[in-house]
Amino acid sequence: MNLSFRDSQVIWHPYTQARLSGPPIAIVTGEGVYLYDESGNRYIDAVSSWWVNLHGHAHPYIAEKVSEQLLKLEHVIFAGFTHQPAIELAERLLTILPAGQARIFYSDNGSTATEVAVKMSLQYWRNKGFQKNKIIAFQHAYHGDTFGAMSISARSSFTDAFSDLLFDVIHIPLPCKGEEAETLRVIEEMIEEHEGNIAAFIFEPLVLGAGGMLMYEAEVLDKLITICSANSILTIADEVMTGFGRTGKHFACDYLKASPDIVCMSKGITGGTMAFGATSCTDEIYSAFLSDDRGKTFFHGHSYTANPVACAAALASMDLLMREECMERIEEISASHREFILKSQDSKTFKNLRSQGTILAMDIETPEESSYFHSLGSRLYSFFIERGIILRPLGNTLYVMPPYCITKVDLDLVYAAIESFAKEVSLE
Ligand SMILES: *Cc1c(COP(=O)(O)O)cnc(C)c1O
Repeated sequence: MNLSFRDSQVIWHPYTQARLSGPPIAIVTGEGVYLYDESGNRYIDAVSSWWVNLHGHAHPYIAEKVSEQLLKLEHVIFAGFTHQPAIELAERLLTILPAGQARIFYSDNGSTATEVAVKMSLQYWRNKGFQKNKIIAFQHAYHGDTFGAMSISARSSFTDAFSDLLFDVIHIPLPCKGEEAETLRVIEEMIEEHEGNIAAFIFEPLVLGAGGMLMYEAEVLDKLITICSANSILTIADEVMTGFGRTGKHFACDYLKASPDIVCMSKGITGGTMAFGATSCTDEIYSAFLSDDRGKTFFHGHSYTANPVACAAALASMDLLMREECMERIEEISASHREFILKSQDSKTFKNLRSQGTILAMDIETPEESSYFHSLGSRLYSFFIERGIILRPLGNTLYVMPPYCITKVDLDLVYAAIESFAKEVSLE
């Protein structure tokens, strides 16, 4: 029996309607940008395995550091105890995080990183003697799948089954190009309407991932942060997808003049090796939890908080990220994406071609019939799989987000496959 069949008997996959999807492809090994399945087929991982992989699969340097740590200390309770990898990682993160970040709180994934950020901001105000219970978020936002993270995310078919139980959030329009003024008007209006009751504004800086790789400018985000700060609203940058070089700088917030109060990290933090999350905050926030009153404690933690092996993977990934050749690769990918956009300006199939650093996205022109593009999604996926490329569209948005180690040759193969898809569609 092959792995795909055995899987079909016992496993429930994420975001998958098993009735309608084919059997999953069983991956046996990974090396660099490639994944190999049980039949020996090779795939270029052009989506970095759900946006987590930075330096390629089974990276020998990360593997070495992880195995060294495993033989030294695999885990220890993180209340009342600490360890070298957690300390060193916090010290090093603070050297690259946006200005003002002073403390690191560890968790284990992106949803917990944002959940922690929201709880931190709400309790911050409570500890300071204020009653604030509203959060501002963008329409189309995605901050994770736990209840708090779902609540602050956009309402969609993903959240329909739970909508009655999600807490109420103020969703403001995304400041897409040309629509910045409307967003600024709405946030001002909401601040007035909910006078003194808004605890925080959470946002994916510059690129909204799951919402469809939607992009907006740093300038308007600077204005939004400035407005929030002037109105005693904490700002939370969800850098879960954008962090660690994705957008061309260490963090998307590095494009800003203003600084957020809280930053959420996960996905690429371990180079895609292990589940891990971190939430950083300013000294001002941390200080509000210091008290002789135990009621002001931040009562949050996970069994695997600050897992030493995950910290070792994160430290190793950061070593690789800091190498000059890695930043050069990021620049080269960014330049290639821009070149592809220039070349595809007149495409009849692709609209709204856009890029930010290593992320390239485009929308596929579809007729009104939404059923058509649902089938288009799986057709796209199969088209690329047959050509040995993993691309997983979001609705009618096709995007490329490769590991930084991808070569120009492989990146060109990905572009060529996209162009041949466009050709095929245009002949219909
Ligand atoms: C993926 C993602 C999350 C959730 O992370 P998980 O590890 O999947 O829970 C949160 N925020 C953003 C911006 C993300 O892209």
